[in-house]
Amino acid sequence: MQSLIDHARTFHQRLSGDRERTAVPGEGVSPQAMFITCSDAHVIPSLITGARPGELVELRTAGNVIPPYRIGRLTAEAATIEYAVNILGVEDVIVCGHTRCGAVQGRVRSWTLRSAPTTRWWLLQTHRWREWPGCGDEDPGRSHLVAQLDKLRRYPRVARRLASGRLRLHGWFYQVDTGEVSNYRPDTGSFTPL
Ligand SMILES: [Zn+2]
Repeated sequence: MQSLIDHARTFHQRLSGDRERTAVPGEGVSPQAMFITCSDAHVIPSLITGARPGELVELRTAGNVIPPYRIGRLTAEAATIEYAVNILGVEDVIVCGHTRCGAVQGRVRSWTLRSAPTTRWWLLQTHRWREWPGCGDEDPGRSHLVAQLDKLRRYPRVARRLASGRLRLHGWFYQVDTGEVSNYRPDTGSFTPL
């Protein structure tokens, strides 16, 4: 922990020394995209994309789970997605899964979450999915990711913007061991290198 504190304490010095890369955008500059991914510490959106401050809106949940939209049900995920799409006007939303995801593994083998009943219930409640053709491999994370994209498409504002061509959804899958990113192709139901 001490190294994190030390870094935070001197962060402002590095910020001022590298203004080109870290400059905070001015008023009225919108983020390029929304990045929805897992809370896993190995997945760092700004490292993967090279995004600078102000360029990505992030939403992170255990297992990059997006709960099903329900009228009248308040969730942090629904509020964050609504804010990004309606207020910030992002035109691209990336949902990014990853290999060796503990939450996804826990959904498949729920006994591994015996000591995390809230996580287990959250995954059981919000995450119904099946193997997707074309995603098949030993890691269930790809099928899980496709299921999240499917739920996101059903959010009313997202659905409207998709229909009008003002929003694009991207399904990425990140290999934590190699750094490779593949992209889901809805037309073929397969993943190809980004
Ligand atoms: Zn994960």
